[in-house]
Amino acid sequence: MKKISRRSFVNKFGIGVGASVVMTALPSFLTLPEKHQKPYTGKKVNIALCGLGNYAEALAYGIQESDYCTLAGIVTGTPSKAEKWKTQYNIPEKNIYNYQNFDEIKNNSDIDLVYVVVPNGLHKDFVIRSAKAGKNVITEKPMAVSVKDCEEMIKACNDANVQLAIGYRLHYEPYHLELKRLGQEKVFGQVRFIEAGLGYKTYDTLDTKSTVDINSREEWRLNKKLSGGGPLMDLGIYCIQSARYVLGEEPIAVTAQFGTINNKNRFVEVEESITWQMEFPSGAVASCNTSCGFNIDRFYATADEGSFELSPALSYGPFVGKTSAGVLKFPEINQQKTQLDEIGKLLLENKKLPNHITGEEGIKDIRVINAIYESAKTGKKVVLK
Ligand code: NAD
Repeated sequence: MKKISRRSFVNKFGIGVGASVVMTALPSFLTLPEKHQKPYTGKKVNIALCGLGNYAEALAYGIQESDYCTLAGIVTGTPSKAEKWKTQYNIPEKNIYNYQNFDEIKNNSDIDLVYVVVPNGLHKDFVIRSAKAGKNVITEKPMAVSVKDCEEMIKACNDANVQLAIGYRLHYEPYHLELKRLGQEKVFGQVRFIEAGLGYKTYDTLDTKSTVDINSREEWRLNKKLSGGGPLMDLGIYCIQSARYVLGEEPIAVTAQFGTINNKNRFVEVEESITWQMEFPSGAVASCNTSCGFNIDRFYATADEGSFELSPALSYGPFVGKTSAGVLKFPEINQQKTQLDEIGKLLLENKKLPNHITGEEGIKDIRVINAIYESAKTGKKVVLK
């Protein structure tokens, strides 16, 4: 079975565009340091990565590139991974935990923050355990598999007086900051319609004979208890996010339709594809798609006096963008490094993290996701309070 990695998909489909280049000023934190500016040598945020799967590898690379964070510890259920990571990243033995002795991290002043990168259904437990250990915590998206879990996570972090961030890597990405500016500042007038899609063909759609163990560790994304749902939880969340931050509004109603299931052995508990529409208070509508059966990575917004778009748009990039006024061009960044640096800087200055990257934001996405699933199941429009 041939799997297409996100990176190869992005590289394969990354296309160039001609025409005039519209280069907007970069946000100050993304501008290049002046020549005489010295590299940061102060205290860094010491991070322990919890769960050492695929995305943890990308985060470890981002942390290594980071100016304000260090990879100081690991939490893993697999002893062989502990050995590998210990050597590769020079992690001291005393900063290595397994899932059983993890709570002892409370007594380890070397660790400032735990970054939770385990399957979605396990985010809640590790976030609450991290909070109880007095550590700041970042958890990967989606924040959790239910609104109730999100509420418990927020409460645990508030009670322990620690900060909670969700791993939204695009909130610091220059193309996305520009989309947000174009939409919220109504540069092309009121946005009326958005199309967003993120999907990856993650299996051979013609192979319907192979059996799949949806209870195996490798296939947790197909297991409802661990994933909370299919590609909507994993990828579609980026479409919801982008529509929300481009409009600066919350959806008031959703309609949704499950797509075709090509492989009935894999998609027993979770959807293979889903299409949904979100209505916003301004009257704007977003039409979105996500799938494990086909590749899609695009964002398009049309407004009263123009339009703006990215494709690729929601993956790790490089992104390609244009507006009705010309081409958008920004430097390619390491999304994970930038996300960690911006969170790191605020934590080092004891500042409160902005709401749009905290649990307050994470829970909003889960509420919308629940409504989408309800609409797809019932065939009815679901109104959001
Ligand atoms: P993965 O399968 O590669 O890694 C999961 C890790 O969790 C593994 O180390 C595994 O051993 C561990 N684990 C612990 N208990 C487990 C259990 N009961 N079953 C299965 N695995 C268990 O997954 P991943 O792609 O690294 O995803 C991890 C998290 O990161 C998910 O929440 C996912 O949504 C998120 N993620 C985010 C991005 C992003 O761009 N922000 C990208 C990929 C994944």
